Amino acid sequence: MSLVELVNLYAAPLIHPELWKPNDTYHSVAGIYLENLWSMGIRALIFDVDGTLMPYHSYVVPKEITKKLRQADELGFRMCAVTNTSSTERVNSLEAIFSMNVFMANPGKPHTNSFTPALDFLHPLEPFQIAVVGDRKWTDIYGGKLIGAYTILISPGEYTQDPIHIRAIKLVEGIIS
Ligand SMILES: [Mg+2]
Repeated sequence: MSLVELVNLYAAPLIHPELWKPNDTYHSVAGIYLENLWSMGIRALIFDVDGTLMPYHSYVVPKEITKKLRQADELGFRMCAVTNTSSTERVNSLEAIFSMNVFMANPGKPHTNSFTPALDFLHPLEPFQIAVVGDRKWTDIYGGKLIGAYTILISPGEYTQDPIHIRAIKLVEGIIS
C-alpha cells in the first residue's frame, strides 16, 4: 500500500464522518438484540476481540458474553473474530476460549483486506448479511462500513476497563467523529 493510499484510507473518516457512524451502539455485547438482527436479515457476526468480547489483554470472557454467544449460536448465526493483535499465541488461545475462528488482521483493520479471511470463511453470505461488532470507530466500524457490513459499536461508557492509551484514542475518535 502506497503512502498516499494509506493517508487516503485513514483520513477519509475525517472528511466523511458518516464513515464511522455505527448502525447500532450497545454498552456490551451482552446487550445486543440478536432477534432484531436476525429479522433484519443478518446471519453472521464478525467480532473484534479486545474491548469487545473481553477486556484488553485479558483471557477471561465475562459470563454474560459467553451466554450471548451461545444464544447467537442457537439462533443460527455464524460467527468468527478478526483482531489487530499481532501475537499468534494470543490468537490460538482466543480460538480455544471462544471455540470460533479468530483471524489476525493483516493488514490491520480498517483495511478491507483485513476482513478477507473472515468473509471467505462466511461464504456464501454477503456483507449485507453480516454485522461487524467492535469497540473502535476507526478500525472496527470504519472497516465494517468499507466492506458493506452492518456495524455495531460497543461503547461501555464510564465503566470501561480499557487501558489508558485506548481511552485516549477513543476520546480522540469521539471528539473528531
Ligand atoms: Mg477492540
